Amino acid sequence: MANLTQAQQIIDVLRRLQAIDDEIRDVREGRDAMTGNLERLHRVLEMRDGQLAEMRDKLSEAESWFTKKSGELETEKEKLTKAKAKLSGVTRSKEYVAVNREMDNIRKNLANREDEVKRLTGAIDEFRATIVREDEKVARMRQVADEEAQGNEAALGEMNATISGAEDRRGEVATQLSSGIVRRYAKIFKARDGVAVTGLTDGVCTGCNMVLQPRFVEQILRGSSIIQCPHCSRYLFDGSSHDADGNAIAGS
Ligand SMILES: [Zn+2]
Repeated sequence: MANLTQAQQIIDVLRRLQAIDDEIRDVREGRDAMTGNLERLHRVLEMRDGQLAEMRDKLSEAESWFTKKSGELETEKEKLTKAKAKLSGVTRSKEYVAVNREMDNIRKNLANREDEVKRLTGAIDEFRATIVREDEKVARMRQVADEEAQGNEAALGEMNATISGAEDRRGEVATQLSSGIVRRYAKIFKARDGVAVTGLTDGVCTGCNMVLQPRFVEQILRGSSIIQCPHCSRYLFDGSSHDADGNAIAGS
């Protein structure tokens, strides 16, 4: 192993920064997936609540209609009672025929109103039952959402603690680099899918899979300069070798 150059030290710090950022991203993704599920559930619940409110409005409209139709039915019944009383006092046959005709009309109206009220009663009962069932379904969904929220609470707390711990470590590591390099790192990180530091294996940048010129490869292997991939700008380290502590680099 060659002596550690300053360039190599900087690359090692950059790699630590990348490792911490990888960790932060992983935990954030897990946290977002968790909260995303619950947010979806809450959106569905909100929609179902809205539908239920609409159903209740329709039910109360139907109930008003029912009251109106029931009133009309009562009116027809009263008319029939009056007509019957009138009939008992009729003496002339012409008038008798007229009152009988009137009673026939009233009976026809009465039958129609009775049909209507009966149909409405059936429809309203059915609709009420539907609302009760829907209400129960929504209540169960709300319970599931509440339980999930409760269950997530501890895990979310842990994830947030992990993230803030990693951010603290990141801050410390970043102080070992010049602000110019930190800014460049951040720029590449943003532009290159969260990977600003990557290994060089068999002369190929593992970030963009492009082959590097031998002079770059040689500089990276020697650790003599800080090399960025000419194609994707990522910082490159020797991915086939050992790290600064002499440990084999896993997975590079
Ligand atoms: Zn590259």
